[in-house]
Amino acid sequence: MARAMIIGAGGVASVCAHKCVQNSEVFTDLMIASRTLEKCQALKDQLDGKETNIEVAQVDADNTDELISLIEQYKPDIVINLALPYQDLSIMDACLATKTHYIDTANYEPRDTAKFEYKYQWAYRDRFEKAGITGILGSGFDPGVTSVFSAYALKHEFDEIHYIDILDCNAGDNGYPFATNFNPEINIREVSAKGRYWQEGEWIETEPMEIKRTYNFDQIGEKDMYLLYHEELESLAQNITGIKRIRFFMTFSQSYLTHLQCLENVGMTSIEPVEYQEQEIIPLQFLRAVLPDPASLGPKTKGKTNIGCIFHGVKDGKKKSYYLYNICDHQESYQEVGSQAVSYTTGVPAMIGAMMVLTGQWQKPGVFNVEEFDPDPFMDALNQWGLPWHEDREPSPVDDTMPEYPVEV
Ligand code: NDP
Repeated sequence: MARAMIIGAGGVASVCAHKCVQNSEVFTDLMIASRTLEKCQALKDQLDGKETNIEVAQVDADNTDELISLIEQYKPDIVINLALPYQDLSIMDACLATKTHYIDTANYEPRDTAKFEYKYQWAYRDRFEKAGITGILGSGFDPGVTSVFSAYALKHEFDEIHYIDILDCNAGDNGYPFATNFNPEINIREVSAKGRYWQEGEWIETEPMEIKRTYNFDQIGEKDMYLLYHEELESLAQNITGIKRIRFFMTFSQSYLTHLQCLENVGMTSIEPVEYQEQEIIPLQFLRAVLPDPASLGPKTKGKTNIGCIFHGVKDGKKKSYYLYNICDHQESYQEVGSQAVSYTTGVPAMIGAMMVLTGQWQKPGVFNVEEFDPDPFMDALNQWGLPWHEDREPSPVDDTMPEYPVEV
């Protein structure tokens, strides 16, 4: 018997709500609360008639007082934050005030600068601990499943992990010349920022898209991928013992990159306000308004995603390599829950993370990243709830930058 409140009614929230309703033994009561009430109601209409009791509400998640009164009225056991990274702190404040568990899928972002840092949320550790509530950061796919994969590899396959390469391949085709698969504003902020990876205790910065590799992905084939900074690098660099280097690569098609470069060149990806007809607008927010809504891409997107981690390390004094990954099919996701695989691969782990807290398996006062918990029940739940994982004990390395490991190319 548990009550959950989802904040947000976009692509990820929709998948998470579908999955909570499928898992009605845990999620007996669900509230979907977001800025636009009609979107919450439309989602409820798709889900009604199942075991879970669903309610909807309008809320401005930037407003902590509004959140507090909604939480006091509904009394959820957990708040699942699937709005945007800008709302993380106001929602955490409301959870603190009402002593309610908290979970999200993306780190807090100040609106005016792209940071991708956990420091704002890690600053809540003591207060969550004192309040006796659990705060879980980054329970999507990446961060989220990639972080749990890392904890699982360290627990079962290695004494020390030296290198992690996280590979995020989306081979989906949505039929548009340019569209992002999740919130365009957040996505473009992420890919147009400088690249960064962690090596021997320090961050190495690169120009955006400076480092390119080609990888042959299972069930997809060869794809070009580019080194990006991604938020799980920060916490994994701290939480995985013995790590020497950790990098993140994402695949992009040439068409996506050409469009992005053109938009950047003309200033459309900027988050600096500009004046237009006596009004201040932020170019990236305007761009978001003219791009397709990611939640509408479901029926059009075909192909698969393949996301996972390649580990190199030592077990019982011997060097070894190990690859854990998931493959998700856009059309199958759409048929099951009405959303494409990028929303699916994020919404399912959000439900699983909430279930871990509600069933007491991941309950610990404080604020934690997902790799700090026992990965085993989460890994089992991935297989059960639609994101089965694959193992490869002889993966091809990404490149020949690990001289002490034999490279088969
Ligand atoms: P969407 O833009 O589709 O949905 C965001 C939702 O939040 C919308 O329903 C929006 O309302 C609502 N919202 C925004 N601001 C407020 C506010 N002030 N008050 C109340 N509701 C608000 O985004 P996605 O579903 O694609 O992404 C959701 C989250 O998941 C993001 O934080 C994203 O970064 C994260 N994510 C994480 C991934 C991972 O693997 N870890 C991968 C993909 C996404 P409205 O409908 O009115 O606009």
